Amino acid sequence: MDDIVKYPDEFLHKPAEEVWLPLDEDHKVLIKNMVKAMYKNNGIGLAANQIGSSSKIFVMDVSNEKNNPQVFINPKIKKEAKEKLTDEEGCLSCPGKLADVRRPMYVGLEWTCQHGKLQYKTFYHLPARVVQHEMDHLNGKLCIDYG
Ligand code: ZN
Repeated sequence: MDDIVKYPDEFLHKPAEEVWLPLDEDHKVLIKNMVKAMYKNNGIGLAANQIGSSSKIFVMDVSNEKNNPQVFINPKIKKEAKEKLTDEEGCLSCPGKLADVRRPMYVGLEWTCQHGKLQYKTFYHLPARVVQHEMDHLNGKLCIDYG
């Protein structure tokens, strides 16, 4: 069964909503399903709206072993590099399409983890790109909307 919401479904252009904390049971199940869907589709990141939820949550795993899923609840970009880089991006919601996207080299992100703790970290390289790609999803924007 294909569980990913695909372009041109308008739901992908609907911005996500803040999640009420502490997490309720429904959101815990949602996060489990997001991680499952990311791995099943060989993705390195997935936003909640890609599986039909409007919750402001994304997951990411850029490890080679695919055993380190990170959960980002109510993420906010607090800082970004002035320097930008262009690279090719693909998206589970836009199969067969690639887009050149110019993005800041690094971003400082604040979020709540699945244990309810507020976190802050600066992301560089591939994680920086994934974080910004998933933040776009939560804002209702797709990589193919650039350019
Ligand atoms: Zn995507």
